[in-house]
Amino acid sequence: SASSFRAFESAAAALYAREAAVYAERRPRSSAACRDHGAGFVSNVPLHWMLDWPMPFPMVVAEAQGVHIADIDGNRLTDFCLGDTGAMFGHAPPPVVRALAGLATRGFTFMLPSADAFAAGDLLAARFGLPHWQVATTASDANRFAIRAARAVTRRPKVLVFDGCYHGTVEDTLVDLVDGRTIARRSLIGQVADLSQTTVAIPFNDVDALRQALAAGDVACIIAEPVMTNCSMILPEPGFHEALRALTRAAGTLLLIDETHTLSTGPGGYTRVHGLEPDLMVMGKPIAGGVPAAVWGMTAAVAEAFAAARDRDEHGHSGIGTTLSGSALQLACLRACLEEVMTEEAYAAMLDRAAEIEAGLASVIRSFGLPWHVARVGARLEVVFRSAPLRNAAEARAAAMPETERALHMMLLNRGFLLTPFHNMVLVGPGVTNAEAAAFVAAFADAVAELSSSAEA
Ligand code: PMP
Repeated sequence: SASSFRAFESAAAALYAREAAVYAERRPRSSAACRDHGAGFVSNVPLHWMLDWPMPFPMVVAEAQGVHIADIDGNRLTDFCLGDTGAMFGHAPPPVVRALAGLATRGFTFMLPSADAFAAGDLLAARFGLPHWQVATTASDANRFAIRAARAVTRRPKVLVFDGCYHGTVEDTLVDLVDGRTIARRSLIGQVADLSQTTVAIPFNDVDALRQALAAGDVACIIAEPVMTNCSMILPEPGFHEALRALTRAAGTLLLIDETHTLSTGPGGYTRVHGLEPDLMVMGKPIAGGVPAAVWGMTAAVAEAFAAARDRDEHGHSGIGTTLSGSALQLACLRACLEEVMTEEAYAAMLDRAAEIEAGLASVIRSFGLPWHVARVGARLEVVFRSAPLRNAAEARAAAMPETERALHMMLLNRGFLLTPFHNMVLVGPGVTNAEAAAFVAAFADAVAELSSSAEA
């Protein structure tokens, strides 16, 4: 009810202040480093996002290995953020470290294929089902290039996204659906071109809206996460992916699936596990073990049309590619990651532990009688502040409890567990033990008990 929502939020604000003080007290060195030595950077950090965590100041990391992270003040945490997915298969995976060491005397980047580059292409095709791939340096770029290719191939102007999406810094996707209209996301800085001219946003899980949006025949591609993971967690309703594929095929619109986060589902990603049939697919972040790399794959038909589009123009400035993309560094790490890190065994351990944590959190939620639930896509879980599954971003926005979320983060952090900021997201890497999973559930129970009793007081 509204009153318990308000009671929770105001109790959470008070608990947050207490926990933030505990955090700061344990981190004199991190605090001094950020204050005294950061002047070379804007706002004292190398990337301004680092100020968006719920902590009062960032902890300064000394090292991270596997699923553990330690700061310069000697605090060691179990890491369920994993660099917001960049380290989903663990920090500094040994096979990737060996690949890096092997390059030490052989060079990193030539704008030419390296001897082991070709093996990585075959591995991608075999695992993810699409026959042809290209390498980029970030998932943002891979999405940008895949969209450009889709427009070239279809010769259509528009991109369709689902409200609440995040696909990186791609302008075409940085929109929101407000009162039925697509507008540039209000947080976007320095945007000049009117994004509503070329992007259409519709609610996830809305087949009628999809049919209508495709009817004009001007949509080059739909870009979608198969499960929305950047607006709380919104699972597809039964039949939604089938409708998405059938309607895009009928309309001549390409389907671009962004698996950057849903690679958590299993080997081959959500696409392979659930038999999706995208025309284009993007993955970034953890695909090369945390070394900056991303890939985009396409069907034979798209690859052929893409090659033909390039032949129409002068070579060079295609708007696709960056100088360091496809480097020996990326390919060696990509290959090591696919062959030796993203294994069946690694996934099995991640999924088992994630299922245990999901069951544990759900039972805590039940025992406190809270109107919350846990959503999960493989190794990725999200605590959602309402009892029914979310259907779309409007519902996700309505279910937000920012103070409660912030307080939960800090309480769990002070109890030894790091969660992903802007989410109640738990990403379970390989190597989390049963004991750690149980300790995390106990810490969550403890935090919820405090929140509930302060909300009642
Ligand atoms: N796609 C998805 C689904 C993402 O969640 C993100 C980042 N959170 C990106 C793309 C962009 O990744 P990057 O910031 O590494 O470019």
